Amino acid sequence: MLESVLPFTNRDERRGETMHPCMTCGACCATYRVAFHWMETLPEAAGGGVPEALTEPLDAHRLVMAGTKSLPVCCVALAGRIGHRSRCKIYDARPSVCREVMAAGENGQSSPQCDRARAAHGLAPLTPADWQAYARRAQTGPARLAERRIATNDPGRTLRLNKPA
Ligand code: SF4
Ligand code: SF4
Repeated sequence: MLESVLPFTNRDERRGETMHPCMTCGACCATYRVAFHWMETLPEAAGGGVPEALTEPLDAHRLVMAGTKSLPVCCVALAGRIGHRSRCKIYDARPSVCREVMAAGENGQSSPQCDRARAAHGLAPLTPADWQAYARRAQTGPARLAERRIATNDPGRTLRLNKPA
């Protein structure tokens, strides 16, 4: 089952500090109808194709991700809790429309879809400060700290960082 292919793991939790802002959001996956051409389910489509079992027919040529055709919207492939942890269970095979939604402010670009989705779930729009904080955390997150401590010959701290959860 898809649910068990990409579960949340302790490793994900440990990496939480450096997660991309989308991975603590998921609002767009619970706001918009996700419609796309049926050909995106073919095996030769990106990521091996959107799993057809997770879709519903929309019209003669289009499908929708199950859970997004009517209110309340919540895509069947979304795992987690909006505004806390989110993960697309079919990330590599997600529809083209999902690939096109940009997180607001990433690469300096605005994204009204992102802003609207976040607002619909009571989340403030992402700001440059969010991206700066993310970049800082990515530079000083657990993996990087461990690397630095190895490089500075501090085995005590490195061992503590590496102990199992
Ligand atoms: S694109 Fe925006 S709304 Fe969608 S998950 Fe990322 S931050 Fe949230
Ligand atoms: S397929 Fe994935 S990215 Fe697209 S709406 Fe569903 S959970 Fe979100």
